[in-house]
Amino acid sequence: MDNNSRKPYQLVSREWKKEDTIIKVKNSIIGGNNLSIIAGPCAIENEDQIFTICEFLNKHNIKLLRGGAYKPRTSPYSFQGLKKEGLILMKKAADKFGMAVVTEVMETNLVDEVYQYADIFQVGTRNMQNYQLLRALSKTDKPVLLKRGMSSTIEEWLLAAEYILAGGNEKVILCERGIRTYEPATRNTLDISAVPLVKALSHLPVIVDPSQGTGIRELVAPMSYAAIAAGADGVMVEVHNNPKEALSDGPQSLYFDQFEAMLPVIGKLAEISGKRVDFDYSREVIS
Ligand code: PEP
Ligand code: MN
Repeated sequence: MDNNSRKPYQLVSREWKKEDTIIKVKNSIIGGNNLSIIAGPCAIENEDQIFTICEFLNKHNIKLLRGGAYKPRTSPYSFQGLKKEGLILMKKAADKFGMAVVTEVMETNLVDEVYQYADIFQVGTRNMQNYQLLRALSKTDKPVLLKRGMSSTIEEWLLAAEYILAGGNEKVILCERGIRTYEPATRNTLDISAVPLVKALSHLPVIVDPSQGTGIRELVAPMSYAAIAAGADGVMVEVHNNPKEALSDGPQSLYFDQFEAMLPVIGKLAEISGKRVDFDYSREVIS
């Protein structure tokens, strides 16, 4: 790819650092030669829900648990998350199964609280350009999963990441989660082309969230495969024990059997791409 023009960002660029950034989190490695799966519910709802989901994920040796305790909802009347109680439940479940916690921090004044429970801070699409929050996270020593703003260009996204690196935190994971286009048939338009492009422009790991990216659970597996084929370092997907009753994002949450069916295909795609996985898929057969 032509790389002649001078970039407005520096520390995140491939010119600045040739080698892939590799991020170690508890027992997992993100980036480089590794293909990661981050999975879990959209939101933590209650103890039974999160323990049931963790127990299921643990059967497949999934090590990175996603879940929101503070939820940025479009409507103020929608479930806003269990907040601190959700963080406590999530960490309790993650600790029981040896998983790492990926959870959203929505406000600068919550960074210290979320820090106590999270292994990876998630910055949501609505906060990608909350520079005060990015600066606060740049002063912590935990990785930041930075979602692409729903109306942001790739350059704006990389400049948001630059804030975190410039402040002193090099552990940034970029997450493509779809952008807003004229098309209402899917919740967002998942920009798969962003994956190889950003991988060329930056040394940071790039993962894809096909759950927010499509809003439709049947599209999550095919878009996960597409993301991995395009060179993504992993996928983040929503899984729920009872998607019909989920308090947020039920229509895009996978049933357990849909998640299970996806694993052997992801495993084979990883083999083809020469990537390592740490989840179990060998016992399952593609039908
Ligand atoms: C989520 O991961 O549940 C979420 C709210 O993501 P986004 O910020 O991409 O909408
Ligand atoms: Mn969600």
